[in-house]
Amino acid sequence: MSDFILKLVDDDEEVDVVNSQCWKVAIIDDEASVHDVTKLALSNTTIQGKKLEFIHAYTGEEGFTLLQNNPDCAVVLLDVVMESSDAGLLLAQRIRTELKQANLQIILRTGQPGYAPEEDIISKYEINDYKTKSELTRDKLFTSLATSIRSYSHLQALEGSKEGLKNVINASATLMKERSINEFASGVLQQINALFHLSAQGIFCVSQKPLQGPNDFASNKSNAFLVVATTQAYEYMYGKDISDVSATVASTIAQKALSQKEHVLENNFTALYLSTPSQWQGVVVIEGGLNLSDVDEELLKVFCLNIAVGLENAKFFSHLNRSAYYDSVTDLFNREGLVQFSGFIKKQAKSTISLYIIDIDYFHDITDSLGFEFANDVLVAMTSILKRIFHKNASIARLHSDVFAVLVADSQLSLKSLINECSRPFILEGNSMRLGVSLGEAHTDTEEDGFDIEKLFRHAKMALKVAKESKRGMAQAFEPQFEKDTQSRRTVLAEFRNALIQQELFLMLQPKASMSTGEVVGYEALVRWQHPEKGLIPPNAFIPIVEQAGLYFELDMYVFRSSLNIIKQYPQINKPISVNISANSLHHHEFIDELKVIIKEENADLTNIELEITENALVRSDMAIQHLNALKALGFTLCLDDFGAGYSSLAYLVKLPLDVIKIDRAFISYITEDKNSLVLLKGMLQICNDLNKKVVLEGVETQEQVDLLTQYDVDVAQGFFYFRPMPIDEILLKAL
Ligand code: C2E
Ligand code: MG
Ligand code: MG
Repeated sequence: MSDFILKLVDDDEEVDVVNSQCWKVAIIDDEASVHDVTKLALSNTTIQGKKLEFIHAYTGEEGFTLLQNNPDCAVVLLDVVMESSDAGLLLAQRIRTELKQANLQIILRTGQPGYAPEEDIISKYEINDYKTKSELTRDKLFTSLATSIRSYSHLQALEGSKEGLKNVINASATLMKERSINEFASGVLQQINALFHLSAQGIFCVSQKPLQGPNDFASNKSNAFLVVATTQAYEYMYGKDISDVSATVASTIAQKALSQKEHVLENNFTALYLSTPSQWQGVVVIEGGLNLSDVDEELLKVFCLNIAVGLENAKFFSHLNRSAYYDSVTDLFNREGLVQFSGFIKKQAKSTISLYIIDIDYFHDITDSLGFEFANDVLVAMTSILKRIFHKNASIARLHSDVFAVLVADSQLSLKSLINECSRPFILEGNSMRLGVSLGEAHTDTEEDGFDIEKLFRHAKMALKVAKESKRGMAQAFEPQFEKDTQSRRTVLAEFRNALIQQELFLMLQPKASMSTGEVVGYEALVRWQHPEKGLIPPNAFIPIVEQAGLYFELDMYVFRSSLNIIKQYPQINKPISVNISANSLHHHEFIDELKVIIKEENADLTNIELEITENALVRSDMAIQHLNALKALGFTLCLDDFGAGYSSLAYLVKLPLDVIKIDRAFISYITEDKNSLVLLKGMLQICNDLNKKVVLEGVETQEQVDLLTQYDVDVAQGFFYFRPMPIDEILLKAL
């Protein structure tokens, strides 16, 4: 840190009148004897503890020059009649108007009483007193001078404090603009020197932690008082805790001021103690006593108050600054920080820069079951794991929640080893723990492709998404195809929004058949998209995209309303139609209300409407269960779709208000080849029967399957063997 160059607040030559050793008194009179008599009368006189110093002139013109050269003159004893009968009055006028010496006290003196000035002249030129020369006695002169000097010193003091206050305000305003603690603190050292006309060496130190700050300021921060600015002589203390630097007068006095919480002036050092509104504490130590006059002491208090507020501003600003780039839980960078400081990695990279995005598997479960604090400890543990793996040429960040990112120069790590390293067991709160992670990677060849961190983020995120979709605990490197897929997903989505408006969606019905009679006992509504260019699009090609984009609710409500319309429009379809409801819709907070609105608007009878809900929709939350109960209360028949395909839990069958269980197609496809499938199916049928649930078998395709299944007591099947999904007009012809 370089020594500062002192810049005085006011560069004009300053004459410290109040502090000088004597009062200057000008005698301006054309009679030499008057000069002598006056000097004689007042020799050895002191006023307010200071002697008098006389200066002389004998004409008005000379007097003008004399006063011009002595702006620190306090009083002028001015003869009225000199080279002209009004020379004194003329000079009085020039003192106020040309010399602008408003504080100089003018005592007019005249030989003859007839030459007394008019009252209006006395007030116009601010003449402070008027005496005849016959009143040149010591006592009278002394009284007159003492009064004038008192007025003069008051006026000077007032002017001094006005000027000082202006300087304090200017200095504080300059400091308020400083946002970093260090710049603020060196600014304070400079301004103190400038304010008090010093060129002293000094230090500024400040507490890391406020006494009564907001909680997160107070926690985890050290109790140290760091030296945040110094002049050159104290440079070696910079950045250290004041209690750790070797004892010097400066460091000792600083600690004394901090422990006593007050200014300390001793050994010719000054320590100014500061305490901010949130009680951060600081101390400014200046070499040399400040030797303050009364006025400056007041100014110093005002200045200290101002710098305390400024210090708090700077503290809060640096905290804000830190929050902008760092994560408070792990002290790693946040996303902004990683981007902001990525140049460092770029500089180090010889050939490639890799970005890894790492997502802890099932972190929500950890938070839900073990609480926030434990989850935060897990994040900190993950931080240590990442720091251990990436100890060189890497920047690590927590992006949000349980997602971390690492930017690495010339990484040699394989994805497989990374997954293994991240999943190594560690000890937390005395227990051994192991985290699963999913990982997406993207890299750039710095020479060929340059470095675009946003692009790397985009690519690594796509890779992570693919990793998570395939299976938790996977690592995936970015492939250009992902970008194409994302693009085509976007296109599908834009077109789907349009399809909802343009009514390109329509329903097909797939009949469900009685296994014993082959008769149609109900239908499933299956959505189709008739694209104007691409033709008929099956639901599997767009529903997953629609789900991800959050449009599932609109779609389900559309299908629900269309099914009610079919029932109304075709009374001959006098069998229940089941409508698929996405798992996400079931969790939508407006789900029940919106259904009610549609039922009311369509004036619908629900006896012929069933709702099909997939099993994994139920696993997720209590809200789903509440919604199921509400649906049941509204009068819907509820059907569990794809049973056995996901997380099958027999507990749901008992707990939930389900009427029908649809056994997943996968079971049926294997029964002819795999005995175990048949055993499982038999078990499921038995349970459903015992729990009094109706059963629908999905995906019955062949005679062989039918032959096998009819041995068991199954009511209903849905499959290509009986009927394929058909448009309404075909249903009317073939399947009523
Ligand atoms: P899902 O609800 O399990 O519907 C049954 C699917 O199996 C239908 O496919 C149907 O055409 C097909 N299928 C029926 N019998 C057979 C068979 O014997 N063999 C074979 N291989 N397949 C058979 P689709 O229409 O392509 O629908 C696929 C999935 O898309 C549905 O599975 C459902 O989850 C979803 N979906 C269809 N329409 C809608 C809808 O309107 N709303 C919502 N949310 N999802 C729908
Ligand atoms: Mg279904
Ligand atoms: Mg199904």
